[in-house]
Amino acid sequence: MTALSVVIPMYNEEAVIPALVARLRPVLDSLDVGYEVIAVDDGSADATASLVEQHRAEWPELRLIRLRRNSGHQAALTAGLHRSFGEWVVSIDADLQDPPETIREMLRVAVEQNLDVVYGVRGDRTTDTVFKRNTAGLYYRLMRRIVGPDLPSQAGDFRLVSRAVVDVLRRMPERVPVYRLLIPSLGFSSGAVAYTRERRAAGETKYPLRKMVALAWDSTADFTAAPLRLATWLGMAAFAASLVAMVFGLVVWANGTVIPGWTSLFLAVLLFAAVQLICLGLLGEYVARIYRTLQSRPAFHIGSDSAETPAPIVPAQRTPATTP
Ligand code: UDP
Ligand code: MG
Repeated sequence: MTALSVVIPMYNEEAVIPALVARLRPVLDSLDVGYEVIAVDDGSADATASLVEQHRAEWPELRLIRLRRNSGHQAALTAGLHRSFGEWVVSIDADLQDPPETIREMLRVAVEQNLDVVYGVRGDRTTDTVFKRNTAGLYYRLMRRIVGPDLPSQAGDFRLVSRAVVDVLRRMPERVPVYRLLIPSLGFSSGAVAYTRERRAAGETKYPLRKMVALAWDSTADFTAAPLRLATWLGMAAFAASLVAMVFGLVVWANGTVIPGWTSLFLAVLLFAAVQLICLGLLGEYVARIYRTLQSRPAFHIGSDSAETPAPIVPAQRTPATTP
């Protein structure tokens, strides 16, 4: 029986795989429970998949799931979570920034305190760059405002969840949720284990600024429609301002001192055009989300899975309309 599944998303991680295997395997072997390690190759362009395949020859617990193309960190996590067999599932980064030794502690806390979720909380991030620390700090502050104070701060995707949580996640219709926000919002009993964020063992970050911004926007739009309300607030502010301007305009007209007023008109037109476009763009972002949800295309495609899955996993689908 598989007691523990360890899900590791990997995108172009050939440089860290030897170090990862060397450090992870002794930890898991010493746990004395049945386990599987699911390496999810997120469409890597380098030798990630073939390296994992090589290691599988002498490490039978290692399993390889290949996505057909690069689908992103959260999609790779979804693939691993949905296909895992373990009673407990840990997700961990490939680059050894999350120390594998912490898994033992997470499992102990979960079993002893009978918890469904154990977060790995980054106590010390001094090995991250100043930029990463500041942007991450900003992200977690914003998310706590949106999701609520229950959200563990500085808890990324290094966490342990029980089968009950995985079952709930599998039934969620969302294509690719932002797990670090979704899981706390489910309300399962949870605990935390602090760890020190280490330096990336090898290779480079796979999270350029572009992906960080995309994650922040996904996190916001998935959890709140507040940006849409911006249009309402801006509209009300503009209405109040225009009342004042109307009175001013009438007074000036009554005094007979009407001036050409080209500059003020020009600026007002520019400002309102810009504000309207921003609001329209925000609206479009949400409409696009509705559209994508309706299309219900899977967020990733499984190319291969080294373990034989007993039942094919069908992504959330609507019941097909019956033809008369
Ligand atoms: N990752 C992935 N697909 C992507 C980007 C990243 O599977 O498109 C994986 C990556 O291989 C690593 C984890 O997500 O295991 C976290 O990425 P990284 O360490 O580069 O992010 P950082 O620690 O710099 O935030
Ligand atoms: Mg990393």
